[in-house]
Amino acid sequence: MLPPATDPIAVYIHVPFCARRCPYCDFATVAGQDHLIERYTSTVCREIESSPLRGRAASSVYFGGGTPTHVSFESCITPIMQAVTGTFELLPDAEITFEANPASSDAVKYRRFRNAGFNRVSIGVQSFDDRVLQTLGRLHTADEAVAALRSARAASFRSVSLDLIFGAPNQSVEQWQRDLNTAVGLAPDHISAYSLTVEDGTPFASMLHAGSLPAPAEETLAAMFQLAINTLAQAGYEHYEVSSYALPGHRCRHNLVYWTHKEYAAFGPGAAAYTNGVRTVNERSPAGYIDRMARTGSAIAYSETLTDEQQLTEALMLGLRLLEGIRISELAARFGQDCVNRLQPAMANLSGRGLLDVGSNTVRLTRAGLMLADTVLVDLAAATG
Ligand code: SF4
Repeated sequence: MLPPATDPIAVYIHVPFCARRCPYCDFATVAGQDHLIERYTSTVCREIESSPLRGRAASSVYFGGGTPTHVSFESCITPIMQAVTGTFELLPDAEITFEANPASSDAVKYRRFRNAGFNRVSIGVQSFDDRVLQTLGRLHTADEAVAALRSARAASFRSVSLDLIFGAPNQSVEQWQRDLNTAVGLAPDHISAYSLTVEDGTPFASMLHAGSLPAPAEETLAAMFQLAINTLAQAGYEHYEVSSYALPGHRCRHNLVYWTHKEYAAFGPGAAAYTNGVRTVNERSPAGYIDRMARTGSAIAYSETLTDEQQLTEALMLGLRLLEGIRISELAARFGQDCVNRLQPAMANLSGRGLLDVGSNTVRLTRAGLMLADTVLVDLAAATG
């Protein structure tokens, strides 16, 4: 069953341009193709303005990437934002986020975004240690990361978030503790702490296969995850999603739309949308995206109507990322009691292994399940098929 077509949606804009590609990145991003920014801008505006969802209320807008602070605010971000506000009915309290890179953002740029109505910024800090930043191939220094955070604060965004990475090559547990302490000392409203995953096709994957990239042991990663949970909890951050921690009132409303399996529109190269039970993914390369839009008037390279089972699998995989878990009655109302019944043996099995906490009406990951979240979610997903 689908969410009502009158519910507000989330709107995602993908800005694929970066100054340089980080060796671990597998997002739809490009470096050295800034000559495409102008045509990208007019194309993404056209894609937004021709959306079949025109007129729908939007509870959040999120400019992600790539690096939204790498492109010109005036000639790229401004027209795209105008296309968004001219196409969708932004709710008065809509959350409007952009991702910022410390290497391409300063006090002036933060103020521009703030004056244009952006009320949330997510800064890709990754680490406060220059050696870790170098290993990750980042262009900014630790000092620049601190300065970015302070400038964002001074611009008075409603929420300032920062991203951190743990499990970087040669990163010690002690160093990770220092990163967490520095982050807490800067008092952002929200922190996302991701374990580094080496994705196929990236330079890090080649180095790993060649034996030249030291990968942390599983126990080290688990210790780092535990450290994040404890340190951030002590500092008053609610751990509300596997990788996300927020001061009260600062949970990311845009991402909550994904995790609660609601509808979202998405524009730009490689952007994935989910509306009306249909998942679509746009052409991934900026040049291909521009070309496809010019030839066909649509950027969609892949489209799939999800069956009830697929929707249930997604709802589980995403919903269980939230620490408060999922209400069984809501699953039953949406997908039918039969579907839920089919899950019972797998849930009982995972509960018996101490990985899932199954109550009378809620199911959620236990602390042990959280440490093995990906495995647990895959096991449950297999049971829905
Ligand atoms: S800056 Fe971010 S999006 Fe760009 S290459 Fe690095 S990790 Fe990927």
